Amino acid sequence: MADFDLIVRGGTVVTGTDTVRADIGIRDGKIAAIADSLSGPETLDADGLFVLPGGVDTHCHIEQLRADGTADEETWESGSASCLVGGTTSVVTFSTQFKGHDILDPLADYRRRAQMSMVDYSFHQIVTDASDEVIFKQIPRIVEEGIRSLKVFLTYDPLHLDDRGYLRVLAAARRAGAFVTVHCENYEAINWRTEALLAAGHTSAKYHSWSRPSIVEREATHRAIALAELVDQPIQVFHVSCQEVAEEVATAQARGLKVWAETCTQYFVLTAQDQDRPGFEGAKFMCSPSPRTEAEHARMWDMVRRGVIDVVSSDHSGWCFEGTRGKRINGSDANFRDTPNGVPGLSARLPLMFSEGVVKGNIDINHFVRLTATNPAKLFGLAGKGSIAVGYDADLVLWDATKQVTITNDLMHQAIDYTPYEGMTVTGWPVATLLRGHVSMRDGVVQSEPGAGKFLARAPYDLIKPRGVLADGFDASLYA
Ligand SMILES: [Zn+2]
Repeated sequence: MADFDLIVRGGTVVTGTDTVRADIGIRDGKIAAIADSLSGPETLDADGLFVLPGGVDTHCHIEQLRADGTADEETWESGSASCLVGGTTSVVTFSTQFKGHDILDPLADYRRRAQMSMVDYSFHQIVTDASDEVIFKQIPRIVEEGIRSLKVFLTYDPLHLDDRGYLRVLAAARRAGAFVTVHCENYEAINWRTEALLAAGHTSAKYHSWSRPSIVEREATHRAIALAELVDQPIQVFHVSCQEVAEEVATAQARGLKVWAETCTQYFVLTAQDQDRPGFEGAKFMCSPSPRTEAEHARMWDMVRRGVIDVVSSDHSGWCFEGTRGKRINGSDANFRDTPNGVPGLSARLPLMFSEGVVKGNIDINHFVRLTATNPAKLFGLAGKGSIAVGYDADLVLWDATKQVTITNDLMHQAIDYTPYEGMTVTGWPVATLLRGHVSMRDGVVQSEPGAGKFLARAPYDLIKPRGVLADGFDASLYA
C-alpha cells in the first residue's frame, strides 16, 4: 500500500450525494484513497466529526480595485484567513473595469495582489464598458488565460451596462466559451424612485430597500434571461433575494434554458427591517438587492429544495463600518444613495447555512454540501474542487455538527470591522480546514502563509456550452 502524507481518520465523509464513515488518505495535496481503514504515520483525528469538501465561494469581493487606484479594505491576506476559519478553501472574486479604460491593466494589478491569498482563487471579469477593444480583443484573451466568467451589472453607477452593452458581453462570452453572471435590478426604476425618496426627505438607510422593491429585481431578471436566450448564452443570476424573482428563473429552467440562480447567506437571515436602526447603524445591513421579509426566508428554502436556487455564496463586500474608507466614505450622515452597499460574510457562510439549513431541517447535509461547495465548483469549472473523491484536491473541512457558537466579529478574522450576523447563535462549526492536504486552520487558528493559495485557471467545460437554439437559426454573435 502506498504511503500517505496524511490520513484523516475516523470521520464521517460527506459529499453532495453520499455520507459514509471512512478514512481519507492524502498524497501530494490530493485525495489518494478513501477506505474503511488506512494506516500511516501522520494522522488527523476526525472521530465524531463530519469531513466535508472545502467550501467554494463563487461570489465575493476581496481587495477589489477602486477607481482611485486603491482597493477595498478586505485584503487577500485577511480575506483568505477569514475563508479558512469559516471552512472555505476556494473563492472566485472580481477583477474590475473602469469606464473608459481596458480590462488588462487592472487584471494584472489584481493578479499580483491575489498572490497573497491563503486559499485557491479565480476571478470573474467585470465588464462596465463594452468597447470594441474589450469585447473583441481583450475578453477572448483573458478567457484563454483561464478567467472563464464575466460579470455584468444591470444597475449601479458607474458600473451598469445598458441592454446593448449586456448583449455585446453575452455575445463575446458565447464566442470565447465563457460564462456570464448578472446583477439583476432595473437601473432607471431605482434611480427614479431614489430621486423621489430623496426629494421627499427620505434619506436614511431604511429607504435603501424602498428604492429597490422586489419588482425591480424581477423585471431585470426576466430581461436578463430573455436577452441571454436571444444570444443563446448560459448565465447565472446573482443574489436572487426572493421567491418572486426565483420564479422567473424557474420558468426559464422549465423551458430548458441554461439559467442558474445563486443566492447569498443574508437572504436567509436578514430582513429590510434591519436597515431601520437608529443613527447610521442601518448602513451595516445595506446590500443589493435588499434583504426582504422574515416570511421570505421560508420561501427561499422552498426554492432551494425545488432546485431552482442551487448555489449559496457570501457576496462578501469590503466596506468597514468605522473609518473614512468604508460605509462612511461620504460621511456619517450620507443619504442611502451615497452609502456603499454590501455586507461581509466569508466566514459566516458555512456556519449560518448549516445551522439554518441542516440543523433546522430545511435541507439535509448532502444538499448543504452541494449548495456551498459542489455546485459552485461545477458551475464555474473549478476542476478537482467541491467534492471528496480520489484524484480531487484534498480541500477538506472537519466539521463539528453539535458545537454552538455565538457569532462575533472577532471570530470572523476579517479586516472588515463588523459582521451583520453579530450575536446570532449557530449550531455547527468548522474545527479544521485543509487546503490541498495542508492543515491551514485548526481550532480557529490560521496555520498558513500568505501565498499558499494558487490561481485556478479554468479550462473549457461542457456545462456552460450554449444550447444551439437561435432565433431564425441566425447566430448574431458571429458578427456583433
Ligand atoms: Zn457582489
